[in-house]
Amino acid sequence: MQARQESNYSEGVNSKRATVISSLVRELKSLLGPENVLSATEDLCLYEFDGSVEKARPELVVFPHTTEQVSRIVKLAAKYQVPVVGRGAGTGLSGGALARGGGVMIVFARMNKILAIDLESRRAVVQPGVVNLDITRAVEHAGLYFAPDPSSQKSCTIGGNVAENAGGPHTLAYGVTTNHIAALELVMPDGEIVRVGSKNGDAPGYDLCGLFVGSEGTLALVTEITVKLSRKPEAVKTLLAIFDAIEDASQTVVEITARGITPAACEMLDGWTLQVVEDYIQAGFPRYSAAVLLLEVEGLREAVEAQAAAVDEVCRTCHAREVRVARDDHERDLLWKGRKNAFGALGRLAPSNYVLDGVIPRSKLPQALTHILGIGKKYGFHVGNIFHAGDGNLHPIVLYDPRDSQQCKNAIAAAEEIIRYCVELGGALTGEHGVGMEKNELMSLLFSEADFDLMRRVHDTFNPDSSLNPGKIFPLSKGCGEIRIRSKEATGAR
Ligand SMILES: Cc1cc2nc3c(=O)[nH]c(=O)nc-3n(C[C@H](O)[C@H](O)[C@H](O)COP(=O)(O)OP(=O)(O)OC[C@H]3O[C@@H](n4cnc5c(N)ncnc54)[C@H](O)[C@@H]3O)c2cc1C
Repeated sequence: MQARQESNYSEGVNSKRATVISSLVRELKSLLGPENVLSATEDLCLYEFDGSVEKARPELVVFPHTTEQVSRIVKLAAKYQVPVVGRGAGTGLSGGALARGGGVMIVFARMNKILAIDLESRRAVVQPGVVNLDITRAVEHAGLYFAPDPSSQKSCTIGGNVAENAGGPHTLAYGVTTNHIAALELVMPDGEIVRVGSKNGDAPGYDLCGLFVGSEGTLALVTEITVKLSRKPEAVKTLLAIFDAIEDASQTVVEITARGITPAACEMLDGWTLQVVEDYIQAGFPRYSAAVLLLEVEGLREAVEAQAAAVDEVCRTCHAREVRVARDDHERDLLWKGRKNAFGALGRLAPSNYVLDGVIPRSKLPQALTHILGIGKKYGFHVGNIFHAGDGNLHPIVLYDPRDSQQCKNAIAAAEEIIRYCVELGGALTGEHGVGMEKNELMSLLFSEADFDLMRRVHDTFNPDSSLNPGKIFPLSKGCGEIRIRSKEATGAR
């Protein structure tokens, strides 16, 4: 009897929800045109994933072309009390772009215009759906480029980069996305359009631009971005240091930093990964080694020669078997192609992979890599390592078969143990991929109740009803009723 009552109740709730969504679909189709609204299940299924292991399906997907349309979509969603989540290319690795609370997903792929380029001031104004690498492509004829270079830069969008405060191999010398953003146009959760930052320098008052960069789409939607462009260096040298022991490669990173050398990039790939990458890309990596460091130095010609010599010397002192220098742009591009496609190469070995993102103090690199391999072994996985060694930003990758429930459980357990270990070493649970819905429950490893309280106050100032990207960043299990998920908790992979 009680079961029947409950089932009647849930049917009633579902049918009320279906009515709300169909009214919203009707209004959105009239606003955007039917070609810019998806509501069929088979279409929505495509948007229930991103690059992470998480899963959550939106109830409808829309493709705006203008800021005004974004504002009106948000107002309509508020009218029907339906949550909203923004999405760029969906390459995120923490479930940030998934509709955890159901609702409307705003995909920025069709807001992909470069609106203005000012070569003299070294600024470009772009829509959020512009692909990261396309900014560089548009200005490289003038010797300029956009410095943040996530390995996904051929597909990820600048809107996603801003939301995640994305990094990349060259973050070591040039900083992360926030260091390259001058101003933002935002649509707030009530639909209001505001601007923060300033095109030509630091705006006085609070650094609101800095607040919104890295807020993972939980405070506002970004509809226009003024990026800072950098001048290409006069000279670049790319070195590949090959090691027979992974501890020696790790020690080299510690030593380079200790000597006060800051290369533009310092990436590490382990020997197992290198073989897989070579099979896929033929980038010129050694087939037999324990690890390589891919190092880049750049700047004025004389300084580059001196810095390359210093790096070479440290590598050899730390027992590098060989240090090669890329002879030309072709060799350099090939090495970077190998590095930037390494996740893809490993992805060919198993039906799915789990890319982790933890930070440790650089001085702990030698012990950490051995420990992480041990954790992988304990759960039955060989963990690949491709990462931003200079920043201590690890990306262990666990290959698994999601159809095997035990493997799934083991992959998640191994991932959690690795992340906990990074925090124990004095590091952090994410370096650049964000918290999203992947690590929100682990946030209390790093933050106290007082920290959460402050963060919640910031959150609630801008997004008081949690109508924007609910269920992200804050742990839901720790009395975070403040972060309300308005509608159903969509099905998760875990
Ligand atoms: C192979 C591979 C390599 C990667 N390498 C790197 C790397 O080197 N460095 C790095 O930092 N990351 C890396 N990533 C992760 C990912 O590419 C970045 O996080 C990227 O910034 C996400 O961009 P996106 O357009 O795919 O965003 P999405 O995944 O679509 O969204 C990410 C977050 O941004 C929010 N968002 C998107 N657009 C907007 C908007 N207009 N307004 C407000 N919020 C918005 C979403 O709600 C979500 O929270 C890699 C991913 C892959 C698959």
